Amino acid sequence: MVLFEDMKGKNVIVTGGSRGIGAATVDLFARNGANVAFNYNKNFRASDQLKNSLSKTGVKIFFDECDVSDYQEVQRFFERSTENLGHIHILVNNAGIWEYGKIDEMSVDEWRRTVQINLDSVYYFTHLVTRQMKANQTKGNIVNIASTAGQRGEALHSHYAATKGAIISLTKSLASELGPSGIRVNCVAPGWVSTDMSAKAIAEQGEQIISGIPLGFIPEAKDIAYPILFLASDAARAITGEIFNVNAGNVLCG
Ligand code: NAP
Repeated sequence: MVLFEDMKGKNVIVTGGSRGIGAATVDLFARNGANVAFNYNKNFRASDQLKNSLSKTGVKIFFDECDVSDYQEVQRFFERSTENLGHIHILVNNAGIWEYGKIDEMSVDEWRRTVQINLDSVYYFTHLVTRQMKANQTKGNIVNIASTAGQRGEALHSHYAATKGAIISLTKSLASELGPSGIRVNCVAPGWVSTDMSAKAIAEQGEQIISGIPLGFIPEAKDIAYPILFLASDAARAITGEIFNVNAGNVLCG
């Protein structure tokens, strides 16, 4: 479904595009005429299937393996994305993990793993992309994916919640820093979304989860992808620094 004509010819990076929200975002941007580069961590097969499913769109799709917690890998992926698509107009910082951990039992390695994948990666990609955008005077766009966990905290996932809270404050900081360069920075904060990440929890506690959601359903990946596309489009040209709640009413705060 084409929603935004201005996406035609835009070059987009989506981190963690092989599955879930990232895959739905790759799909939606491509179907709106954007060229898309995305990375995966382990899942070559899903990435290849996604690329093949978009072969009739006529846009360029580039994907590659890249562990987003490793700056050198991110640099390499960014360079290859630029070689394949051209300079980047839109960055969607989506890749992430959600691990369980009681704070008194969590090892230093477990803490660092979540921080490196969920937060350091956002700095790595944003650093490289904004440098290029400024050099090219691109009116660019960045959309970060946070979580309700970053707004209200999350017991037994405190490392995850800490990274998502940091992404919210990073978004607000960068919106004012980069606005004068013509770069908008926004955030989508999902609640429960039906993806691999949450599948086990939803299978075990589905009814309880739904009972806490005012709209009475658990959003799907595409429900998050549409607001991401909107924020990156010219339709949102006056919006920056926004924390966009997409949680079916689960957390009514920004
Ligand atoms: P998902 O289905 O588990 O997909 C995660 C994606 O991130 C995959 O493409 C995965 O690649 C990639 N990834 C994970 N670790 C990586 C690493 N070290 N390097 C590179 N890529 C890596 O997750 P999702 O539900 O779509 O979540 C996407 C974003 O939404 C995350 O930031 C998450 O925190 C946020 N979110 C999700 C929910 C939810 O309920 N699902 C709620 C709020 C926020 P592989 O396929 O190769 O493993």
